[in-house]
Amino acid sequence: MEPVTETFESRKKHVCVKGEGLSIPVCDKASLPGTVTQRTCVYGGARIVLMPITDSIHLVHGPIGCAACTWDIRGSKTSREDIYKKGCSTNLQEKDIIFGGEKKLFETIIELNKLYKPGAIFVYATCVAGIIGDDIRAVCKKSEEITGCRVIPVQSEGFQNHNKTKGHWIGGDALLDYVIGTKEPEETTPFDINIVGEFNVAGDLWGIKPLLEEMGVNIISTLTGDSHVDEIAQAHRAKLNIVQCQKSSNYVAQKMEKKYGIPFIKVNFFGLEQTVASLRDIADFFGDEEMIERTERIIESGLKEVAHKIEEYKKRLTGKTVALYVGGNKAWSLVRPFEELGMDVMMSGTKNGIREDYEMIKEAVRDGTIIVDDANSAELTRLLKEHRPNLLISGAKEKYISLKLGIPFCDFNHDRITAFAGFRGFVSFAKEVDASVSSPVFELTSKSLRGD
Ligand code: SF4
Repeated sequence: MEPVTETFESRKKHVCVKGEGLSIPVCDKASLPGTVTQRTCVYGGARIVLMPITDSIHLVHGPIGCAACTWDIRGSKTSREDIYKKGCSTNLQEKDIIFGGEKKLFETIIELNKLYKPGAIFVYATCVAGIIGDDIRAVCKKSEEITGCRVIPVQSEGFQNHNKTKGHWIGGDALLDYVIGTKEPEETTPFDINIVGEFNVAGDLWGIKPLLEEMGVNIISTLTGDSHVDEIAQAHRAKLNIVQCQKSSNYVAQKMEKKYGIPFIKVNFFGLEQTVASLRDIADFFGDEEMIERTERIIESGLKEVAHKIEEYKKRLTGKTVALYVGGNKAWSLVRPFEELGMDVMMSGTKNGIREDYEMIKEAVRDGTIIVDDANSAELTRLLKEHRPNLLISGAKEKYISLKLGIPFCDFNHDRITAFAGFRGFVSFAKEVDASVSSPVFELTSKSLRGD
């Protein structure tokens, strides 16, 4: 079979076309050395799961670079404290590598607690901390006894695995082992839920929460967007977990089901159809007639509000093509919203996908769609040049590849500043996509790149 694009022999099966033999690319393998992969490490995977807990200090035990390259990595918004945005590191130096960094870690925790009185201090292990063998658990335990503040070890040494997904699980384990189940709610209701895997990027949570509250559910906690650690501590009393980012958070939901008997359902608040289906699934789960009626009224007014607002965008976007190169969950959950705008997803890919992620992508896309795993810059450039989509949806690392090729670009990762979730979020999404795709500047750059 002909390779989809020109690349190294060992990379050829990481790119495939749905419906043409191999519909799931080879994935979840260590990146090929020298190809300048854009992946994040295990520590980065743990940090993006925990970072949105806003009343906590996130202390990186390692050289300064580990903290610097992940500062504000999530783009999560807060409605309350903002101490989660402090960039805290033990800044390990040569002397610490030789004599050990535990004393420095202990002193840093004591000082941070004095300075900020946080809800918790999460201490992240990095590669260097793992190599020199610092006992982070012991230091956390001792400092917790002295300060009275929760000090939570996150055993996230970056080298543990080639896939940052393991970091998501380690972040989840830190919550399961040290936070969830450690506080009882003052009161409970029959409709208590947790929103799991919603990180409030650009304020997405604020497009979802009002809909849920209007339905009549009681949100105990969000894991972890715009949350406080004490709220997550009460999460074990929920009657239902709804899981938004299934890539990062199915793991926690499955473990909570096993440990506390809390069932979970997968939801998705990107796009109209998926928002409607998610609201109905939650109402159906509780089976409360009044809630079901309220939900239908919310859906009716939400759809009515949005319908005429997206018409203009839809006219211009219909028939345009889009390539997705995003985090696992978005690689399948954005397919339908683009179809709702009349657009065609011609490629979908992710950097850290595991087989389950590619099964989901395969289900979501049409036959003939290119599916790509861990594309390096050269491969992505080649695919974009060969297929010239009308839009690339990706993150900061791919932005300039796209713009230099004269291909419109939208950030759907952590650097975006507009919320896209829920009914109103879909209007903002359509507006932003249209602003990029219909911008005259790309017509000019395309001509100049073609040499017209
Ligand atoms: S934990 Fe390791 S791989 Fe991750 S940023 Fe630090 S040094 Fe790099």
